Amino acid sequence: RGSCASDSSDSVISTGSETDSQVYKVVLLGEHGVGKSSLARVFGGLEDAGHDCDEAVTDKSSFEKASELRIQLRRARQSENIPIILVGNKSDLVRSREVSVEVVFDCKFIETSASLHHNVHALFEGIVRQIRLRKDSKEE
Ligand code: GDP
Repeated sequence: RGSCASDSSDSVISTGSETDSQVYKVVLLGEHGVGKSSLARVFGGLEDAGHDCDEAVTDKSSFEKASELRIQLRRARQSENIPIILVGNKSDLVRSREVSVEVVFDCKFIETSASLHHNVHALFEGIVRQIRLRKDSKEE
């Protein structure tokens, strides 16, 4: 079970299983309103995403912002090879889609819906898997 905390712009979630006592820090970055706190809350089992709002896969500018953030992150943490997953949240709002799933992005990509709880656990499992893969390859 994860625990989460958030401020007005970004959400930080700590995740890891009780058996291996590992705690990983996952940072959710993106424009205001794309659903970062909702994803963290759903993952932490605290609360549902409430009413609808039209951003994330329905907002091309939030995608462009994510693209920019990815470049900045890679540049700032060049030596660390940190895992990055692009999240297209609000997949339930398909009718207002502005961001194509075909789009080529140089990292893993997953579509989620915090409202429908779709792929939220898959997202955080994917993150933990990527962190562990990198750790294992460093220890070899
Ligand atoms: P944040 O600013 O990135 O932390 O975004 P919030 O988590 O506060 O979400 C902004 C709004 O989007 C809220 O009204 C949420 O209820 C709504 N929202 C979050 N996730 C989803 C989703 O998957 N689908 C829909 N339809 N709305 C969502």
